[in-house]
Amino acid sequence: MPSLTSIWRRSIQARVVTSTIVLSALVISLTGWALLRDVATGLADGRRVAAISEARSGFDYAQTQLDAAVETEPATQSQTLTRMVDSLTSSRGAKRTYELVLEGPLSKDAGQVPVRSSAAIEQGSLPADIDKAVRGAAGTYWRYSDLALLGSAEAEPSVVVGSQLRAPGTGDTYAMFYLFSMEDQQATLDLVRRALMLGGLAMVLMVGGVAWLVSRQVLDPVRLARRIAERYASGNLEQRMHVNGEDDIARLSTSFNQMAASLQSQIRRLENLSRLQQRFVSDVSHELRTPLTTVQMASAVLYDSRTRFDPQTARSAELLKGELDRFESLLADLLDLSRFDAGAADLELDTIDLARVAKQAADDPVVARKGIEIRLVGVARPAVVEADIRRIDRIVRNLLTNAAKYSGSPVIEIEVAQNEQCVSLSVRDFGVGLTGDENLRVFDRFWRADPARTQGGTGLGLAISREDAALHGGTLQAWGRPGDGSEFVLTIPKPEGSAKFPAIVSVFA
Ligand code: ADP
Repeated sequence: MPSLTSIWRRSIQARVVTSTIVLSALVISLTGWALLRDVATGLADGRRVAAISEARSGFDYAQTQLDAAVETEPATQSQTLTRMVDSLTSSRGAKRTYELVLEGPLSKDAGQVPVRSSAAIEQGSLPADIDKAVRGAAGTYWRYSDLALLGSAEAEPSVVVGSQLRAPGTGDTYAMFYLFSMEDQQATLDLVRRALMLGGLAMVLMVGGVAWLVSRQVLDPVRLARRIAERYASGNLEQRMHVNGEDDIARLSTSFNQMAASLQSQIRRLENLSRLQQRFVSDVSHELRTPLTTVQMASAVLYDSRTRFDPQTARSAELLKGELDRFESLLADLLDLSRFDAGAADLELDTIDLARVAKQAADDPVVARKGIEIRLVGVARPAVVEADIRRIDRIVRNLLTNAAKYSGSPVIEIEVAQNEQCVSLSVRDFGVGLTGDENLRVFDRFWRADPARTQGGTGLGLAISREDAALHGGTLQAWGRPGDGSEFVLTIPKPEGSAKFPAIVSVFA
């Protein structure tokens, strides 16, 4: 199962949907928060305004009562106050939405101010600051607070309105407080909050779904285009996109199809050109063969009679013979390559032992004449492959003569190795070696290293050897380092081996 990070990395749709959900959740939360704040302020303001006006009429009523009271006896005065509180809090049928607290007379000793209240309000429910303000100066004061009633577990939000009253008869002052519950407002706010949260969640999910649908609409054609491009890249040049409508995707499909058609025609043109070139090389080589044979024969006659010529003419006959030999081998190489290119190279398979091939190659008289020592490694054990002996022999001889001709190494090592899948034969020299660039170019057709090092080769030998190796399902690889020599490794799969070769580690690594 693909991991989340790989889904995130590979799927534009996952990224679009996730970022849309995150961003819309953010926007909806912010909007919801602002909306909720407005609603809360509106509800609280409305309640406060109503509460203050209701409280004011209560204060006025109480003040009138106090103004009218003429008793100076504390006991009767106390009764009057209790009656007043009772009358203010007696709800006429409807549920009372406030509680009342009357403190006073305040002129008494601060610690024992008598308090009358309409309900069992918990001690300390009245905020100290408003209590102090009301006691301190005349006027109406208000603030939001929590109202804790005896017997209820949670404090209710409330607005407290307080004012000072004065009894002209006795000269006493009182502090009177209305505590209006805001439970209804709180309930409304909770309802709005729940609705906003559910609505917001539904909205986020819906926006995510819409993003998924929309991105699918855009991405489906893109995925189709990718699949078609992949098929096109794997060689199916007839692949085209289906054009439907006139939208951007349709225009993309049209452009893709135009590009595909143009590429296809270019490729076909180049293929034709390449075929023509191959045919031309092949035809020219064939056409040259007959005159060349005649010229070769004539040159052989001249060469054989050179002892009868004056020295200058004799030298010319020798040069002519040498160059004609070179020409012949170049022509043979060209014919070989054109056969590879045309796919006409045939393979005559036989069971052959690469160890024996290596041993026979070691007896090469050309190499022996140059006084080069040949070391054989790993030839004691037979290394059997199904191969065309003529072609394998040609590869090994080419590698060996190259090492003898170009490397300047006094020693050449031929090593045969094998595992379950394949057999390898490497020719290693300890001479001039190859630079990084030469490592890459050594198999190019007509390529020769520094001309100063060139000793008359055509530059086609290694190209042909590589084609020969590929014809067997094998490889020919080269490694070298200037001054350290080079190594050419031919690898041929064993008859029962798979085509998958284990990596052969360079000796220069
Ligand atoms: P040629 O027909 O010239 O031998 P090859 O394709 O066999 O063509 O070789 C191409 C070139 O690679 C040679 O001209 C030579 O410069 C270089 N080369 C091949 N083998 C070696 C080697 N063992 N050491 C150094 N250079 C080499």
